[in-house]
Amino acid sequence: MKLIRFGREGAERPGALLDDGRRVDASSFTRDYDEAFFASGGLEGLRDWLIAHRGSAPIVADDVRLGPPVVRPSKIVCVGLNFRDHAAESGMDIPREPVLFFKATTSLSGPNDAVIIPRGGSKLDWEVELAVVIGRTARYLARENAADFIAGYALHNDYSERVFQLERGGQWVKGKSADTFAPIGPFLATRDELPDTTNLKMWLDVNGTRRQQSTTANMIFDVPTIVSYVSGFMTLLPGDVISTGTPAGVALGMKPSPVYLKPGDEVALGIDGLGQSRQKVVACP
Ligand code: ZN
Repeated sequence: MKLIRFGREGAERPGALLDDGRRVDASSFTRDYDEAFFASGGLEGLRDWLIAHRGSAPIVADDVRLGPPVVRPSKIVCVGLNFRDHAAESGMDIPREPVLFFKATTSLSGPNDAVIIPRGGSKLDWEVELAVVIGRTARYLARENAADFIAGYALHNDYSERVFQLERGGQWVKGKSADTFAPIGPFLATRDELPDTTNLKMWLDVNGTRRQQSTTANMIFDVPTIVSYVSGFMTLLPGDVISTGTPAGVALGMKPSPVYLKPGDEVALGIDGLGQSRQKVVACP
């Protein structure tokens, strides 16, 4: 099952992308894909509702904007340096334990929304990532139980302002949290759609030139390990997002010198089974 949210920013409604490519409005079944939805068995209910109503639910026109497929969550947790090649290009050591950081939840945006260079920013960078969406309240999970607590997966571009992140001191959160820095979607694919997340191809283009091309097989810590690990430090709530790290090929790693994004650039990305997204870069208004 593929969950979408559609409509104007801040006024999105829940829907589903059907296997035949139609997008349907599910707002007569649920108010939104929020914490209460996941916590109350909403996914199972939605599955049944779609079986009964897939033919009669209102169609969402192709030109209607997609929002992020989940409501703004309680947290967006990210794993840094989770691909060997990316750690190397960043000049960082291979971590012995997952490196965790946060993105502000206000950075969440639709998959094809423009990405805005924040005020004072000069080194905007891209990171294609597999995002995990939590389905049940989780704390102190064992790795072998982690899968049961995952609602599904989505495509994520973990945008970064490298000056804010790396040259202004303190935690990475400063360079990860600007508005529009977390375009997620086009859809949330439920866990059954991706029973194996250990070898998903992932790619990212800038202005039509391939910059990142890898697979989740190159992760240092796999998805169940990450979910279990994070739950040892904080309670994960339904709808929370964990982004699992990016492979090599970001601007920061370019030799001899990085070419960061500038207004007018187009970024396109995708992961097997999770669709594609596209963001145009715009200057701070
Ligand atoms: Zn990242």
